[in-house]
Amino acid sequence: MMLNFDKMNGLVPAIIQDADTAKVLMLGFMNKEAYEKTVETGKVTFFSRTKNRLWTKGEESGNFLNVVSMKEDCDRDTLLIQVHPMGPVCHIGTDTCWGEKNEQPVMFLKLLQDFISKRYDEMPEGSYTTSLFQSGVNKMAQKVGEEAVETVIEACNGTGERLIYEGADLLYHLIVLLTFKGYRIEDLVRELEERHSATWKKH
Ligand code: AMP
Ligand code: ZN
Ligand code: ZN
Ligand code: ZN
Repeated sequence: MMLNFDKMNGLVPAIIQDADTAKVLMLGFMNKEAYEKTVETGKVTFFSRTKNRLWTKGEESGNFLNVVSMKEDCDRDTLLIQVHPMGPVCHIGTDTCWGEKNEQPVMFLKLLQDFISKRYDEMPEGSYTTSLFQSGVNKMAQKVGEEAVETVIEACNGTGERLIYEGADLLYHLIVLLTFKGYRIEDLVRELEERHSATWKKH
């Protein structure tokens, strides 16, 4: 990586983003040494302008930032670092330095999809997901149908709690079916997005 450290007194800003939720967690600065140490250790190290030394985030709190990926921007003067944080990122105790919670419930669907795809690739013995894949497309599709009916029943006659439960079953089995057919939940989301932007333009 040929980062340009010359624009800002030897420093490059590093945007720290959660690899799973896509939340921006904090911003720090790196000099060449901090950058190299980060690459070497897999834990984010900044150059602290306050401490005037290298600062491995988490060195006191234990809340290290484990690097998942590092990307330079278009003109190589800014880093985007995706991490798995080991705890709250801000020294004030909040998840992000902007006082937000580091969660994005819908993003969990992507993790679930990754997990289901992994099951499909590895087919571990004793896993329910594996047994679904092995049961064949008709059975998987039938499962989606059953869970859809259960969702309908809960919507018409049941409690809200059961609706969530059956809806979750439906979504899980739908992802399994999609995966078996070579698709991902993101393909479905993309379709919804396209329709949405088409509608948006009409209004
Ligand atoms: P830590 O790196 O988490 O062990 O924290 C060590 C020290 O770094 C803290 O006492 C704070 O002074 C400072 N610090 C930690 N996290 C942040 C942050 N997100 N933004 C600014 N300063 C921080
Ligand atoms: Zn730039
Ligand atoms: Zn902070
Ligand atoms: Zn069910």
